[in-house]
Amino acid sequence: MLARRAFALAGAGKRCASGGVGTVSVKGGEPARASGHMKSSDAIAVPIVQTAAYTFKDSQQLIDFNEGRYPSYEYGRYGNPTVRAVEQKMMELEGAEDCLASTSGMYTAVSMMMALLPEGSRVITTTDCYRRTRQFLNTVINKMGVTNVVIPPGDLDALRCEVQRGAAMFFSESPSNPMLRCVDIPAASQICRAAGTILCIDGTFSTPYNQRPLDLGADIVIHSATKYLAGHHDVLAGVLAGRKDLVEQVRALHGVMGGVLDPHAAYLLLRGLKTLHLRVARQNASAEALARMLHAHPKVKKTIYPSLPHHPDHAYATAQARGFGGVVSFELHGGLHAGAMFTDTLQMPHIAPSLGGCDSLVEQPTIISYWNVPPDERNEIGIQDGLIRFACGVEETDDILADVARALELLDVEKQYLKDTHEAWRIKG
Ligand code: PLP
Repeated sequence: MLARRAFALAGAGKRCASGGVGTVSVKGGEPARASGHMKSSDAIAVPIVQTAAYTFKDSQQLIDFNEGRYPSYEYGRYGNPTVRAVEQKMMELEGAEDCLASTSGMYTAVSMMMALLPEGSRVITTTDCYRRTRQFLNTVINKMGVTNVVIPPGDLDALRCEVQRGAAMFFSESPSNPMLRCVDIPAASQICRAAGTILCIDGTFSTPYNQRPLDLGADIVIHSATKYLAGHHDVLAGVLAGRKDLVEQVRALHGVMGGVLDPHAAYLLLRGLKTLHLRVARQNASAEALARMLHAHPKVKKTIYPSLPHHPDHAYATAQARGFGGVVSFELHGGLHAGAMFTDTLQMPHIAPSLGGCDSLVEQPTIISYWNVPPDERNEIGIQDGLIRFACGVEETDDILADVARALELLDVEKQYLKDTHEAWRIKG
C-alpha cells in the first residue's frame, strides 16, 4: 500500500514525451525503430547480441532481407550475430563451406542425423561411440524408420560391405570415446564417395588443431564444443561444419527444432576458441607423456593412446593427425576396487565426466557412466571395471605426471577398497 502511494506521488501514469512510463521502460534510451540494422561497435571482443528478435526499418527492408539484398537477422531461432561469429570462426578452422552452432554436442548429432537420414535408410556406426549417441542410434533412430548397422572400429572391409548394401551415412568418432579408436578417414572417404554415402566424423576428441576431417575427405565434422573448443568446463555447445548443401538441410530442421545456442554461451565459446591451439598443444604433450609413463608401469594392464605403437590404428592415425588430445584411457590391474582407489588418491584432477577443459578430469567409466549397466554388456563394448579415462588439462605436465605416479605408487591392487561394490549395489537394486 505504502509502495503504491510512493509510486503515485512520483508521478506514475504521467505521460513522458515519448509515451507512458511502461513504454519508456521498454524503449527509453534504446535505438529507435527507424535506426535499421544493428550498429557495429569498435569493441575488440565480439559483442554478445542478447536478443530474441530483430527489427526492420520498414516493409521494404524486410522484403530486401527476405530476398537477400539486406543482410541481417529476423528471429533468434534462425540466427544471431554472436553465434554466427562462432560459426564463421569454425568454418575457417575446419575449412568448411558452412557451419551450424547449436546448444550441445548431442543436439548437433541428433539434428544432423534427423535431417540427413531419409526414412527407410541405413546408417553405419561403430561399436565404440559416446554412450548417448549410441543410445540415440539404438533406441530412437529406428522410430524414424532408419536402421543402424554397427561395425567394429577400423574394419574397412566391413565398411565396404555395408556401404555396398546401401547406406545413407557412415558416422564415427575419431578418436572415439573412450577407447580412442581412429578412422582411416581418406580410405573411408574413398569407400563412401564411390557409393554416395555421407561420411560424418565426430571430431570432438581431435579438434581442428589436431585433425581436419574435411581435408581428409569427410563431408561433415561435428563437435561437442563443450569439450576442447570451449575449453573451460563452463559451457555446453555443439558445432557442425562441412558441405554447404548438407549444413543447409540441418539448419532448416534446426529452425524448427530450436536447439539454439544462447548468445552468452556463444561468446564463451568464441573466447575459448581463441586459445584452442595453445591449450590443445599442451594437452597433446601431457597426454603423450602420461601414456608413455603408464605403458611402462607394472600396475597398468593396458594403456590406450593412438600414438603408442601397439594401438590398433597407430599407423594411419599418426599419418592423418598432428596429435591426439588430452585423453588417455588405461586399465589397471585390480579392476573396480583398484580403479576407485587410484581415482580417489589422485590430487590434481577433479573426479568428473567431460574432458578437454583447462582442468584435468578423471573418471572410472564403470562407476560414472555404466554403474547400472550389467557387466557382460559393459564388457561387450570394452568397458572393463579397472578402466580409467584421464583427461589432461593445461596444468604443468610434470605436475600431472607426478600426481599419477604418486597415486600408482600408493595403489594396492589387492585391496577391497570400496565398501559397497557394484554387485552389492545391483543386488540391492
Ligand atoms: N560426442 C562425443 C565424442 C562426446 O564425448 C560427447 C560428450 O561427452 C558428445 C558428443 C555429446 O556432447 P555434449 O555433452 O556437448 O552434448
